Amino acid sequence: MKRVVLLGSTGSIGTSTLKVADDLPEHIRVVGLAAGNNDQLLIEQARRYRPQAVCIHDPAKTGALRDALGPGAEVNSGSEGLLKLATMPEADVVLIAIVGTAGLQPALAAIRAGKDIAVASKEILVMAGEMVMAEAARHGVKVLAVDSEHSAIFQCLDGKPPESVRRLWLTASGGPFRSTPKEEFPHITVERALKHPSWVMGRKITIDSATLFNKGLEMIEARWLFNVEIGRVSVVVHPQSVVHSMVEFVDGSIIAQLSTPDMCLPIQYALTYPQRMPSGRVQTHFAKLGKLTFEEPDTDRFPSLLLARRAAEVGGTLPAVFNAANEIAVEAFVNRRLSFPGITELVRRTMDRHQAVSHPTLDQILEADRWARSEAAR
Ligand code: NDP
Repeated sequence: MKRVVLLGSTGSIGTSTLKVADDLPEHIRVVGLAAGNNDQLLIEQARRYRPQAVCIHDPAKTGALRDALGPGAEVNSGSEGLLKLATMPEADVVLIAIVGTAGLQPALAAIRAGKDIAVASKEILVMAGEMVMAEAARHGVKVLAVDSEHSAIFQCLDGKPPESVRRLWLTASGGPFRSTPKEEFPHITVERALKHPSWVMGRKITIDSATLFNKGLEMIEARWLFNVEIGRVSVVVHPQSVVHSMVEFVDGSIIAQLSTPDMCLPIQYALTYPQRMPSGRVQTHFAKLGKLTFEEPDTDRFPSLLLARRAAEVGGTLPAVFNAANEIAVEAFVNRRLSFPGITELVRRTMDRHQAVSHPTLDQILEADRWARSEAAR
């Protein structure tokens, strides 16, 4: 039985995680739930899963939660509440699925409290991969991948050391504009960018999938999770999203992980690792799939991949700046204050102005994050 704290329970990954908990009641028990603003859904979830503690971002909403849940669940709020949930003595693993950077400090707190962490929020490893992996090693806890690509690589590696790897291959669907000519990019609307061809996800990651920033963030995430320098992390476009990623070993052999796309699969594997539990949710019919195809990513139309590589090569605080400037740019695009190609341009200009600090402390990372947000907004 794994006792799980779920941060970001009301989002796309959060609700999929609860489906996995429904599938495996003998193996997964939810002991803590945290949400941002959606108190109604949090109340519904808490009534159903009966966690010992819940957390809502806005302290003004705690009264309504206490009234609805009674004395059975401790009600917390804000970033302090997240830290409390992340370190609950009752928890074995903390799954972090909060969009943005609010998951970083709870992730570090959970590690220091001796919990395994399951990471969906890629921002955590992009901003502070070096520190998070070092702390996890020091405390002897696991950092489990929830992102489908990283779960795939984790499954393919199966414990093999970084020296056995020639290359990690991250697959990318290519997003809704895979075949759109560059001349049309300035006219791309928010509505079109929000229609992903293979996955239904939260709003921020859907826009990131259209710009390929999501793949850039995943490159940096992979670099830290698997301790393989960025020069050995490559991206290949695979529109069917059936091959979730691959590992090319030093002897030339390539192992891939495949299935029809469903986030419940990598979530379940992270929560039951090292076991595999039966599930009927994912069925893959090769004959129906027909073809699996692969293409080179077009970095002329999607320069976000080059920016990600540069951020990872320079390292230090630059990946945090890459991530924060992109969040501001996506928000501005969604609010129709920036064009689609403007997203990449704004991130590039913010990165150009940053003086990176190597091997940063947490305070230096958070300062770089704040600086990038205000610089990009300006
Ligand atoms: P969503 O936007 O669907 O959900 C975000 C969640 O974070 C919601 O539960 C939201 O609460 C919660 N939240 C936001 N701010 C806070 C806060 N300050 N404190 C507590 N909770 C907060 O995002 P996704 O589920 O799509 O993505 C979550 C993370 O997982 C992202 O980092 C994304 O990159 C990553 N990811 C997502 C995948 C997917 O398929 N969706 C795949 C791989 C990775 P509320 O809704 O109540 O405001």
